[in-house]
Amino acid sequence: MRLVLLGAPGAGKGTQAALIKERHGLAHVSTGDIFRENLKNSTPLGFEAKKYMDAGQLVPDETVMKMVGEKLAEFAADEGFMLDGFPRTVAQAEFLEGKTKLDGVILFNVDDEAIVKRLSSRAVCKDCGNVTTRLEHDKCPSCGGELYTREDDNEQTVRSRLKVFHEQTEPLVKFYRDRNLLLEVDAGQKPEEVFARVVELLDHDKN
Ligand code: AMP
Repeated sequence: MRLVLLGAPGAGKGTQAALIKERHGLAHVSTGDIFRENLKNSTPLGFEAKKYMDAGQLVPDETVMKMVGEKLAEFAADEGFMLDGFPRTVAQAEFLEGKTKLDGVILFNVDDEAIVKRLSSRAVCKDCGNVTTRLEHDKCPSCGGELYTREDDNEQTVRSRLKVFHEQTEPLVKFYRDRNLLLEVDAGQKPEEVFARVVELLDHDKN
């Protein structure tokens, strides 16, 4: 299976990707994670991406497409994967269309104010990358590791990221609906409820 996970920042794409990975054994490719990893390792790509990430803007298409093209080339023709955070523009979606055939695009719908609220308490584990909330935990509930807040999860940057989502990424809803690939989920619910719906959609889509 080759899937795209589509949705605003904070819609829960990463959380659902981890659950889908566990159930379907699909590789998880997150462009945001690749940029953060590059930043941690002080690579030129990391430095280039940082200025856009800090401002809540998109890294230029050319840079992202080159990076994703290299990543996709690592997969065998029959290997499944899910893309989380890519594509984010129509140009990226057209690029992807030229590279591979998709089985489905899951759209995670959540309203903006719920996202602002959700991201103001989002925390990520330094050790295992698990995403959780500070409202309930001060250590990672999965491995006990230390939690940190992503630099771009402050309200001002979140609002910029949402604006960018509506202007540049939302057109992909029509793009994929027109190709009969769109599977929609109400992502305003609890992660386990969202996942139950995802499983239902994927099982139905397979048959
Ligand atoms: P994410 O972890 O998916 O929220 O991504 C964090 C940041 O990385 C975004 O706000 C962008 O600055 C950058 N980024 C990630 N994926 C893409 C993409 N497909 N196109 C452009 N920028 C991206």
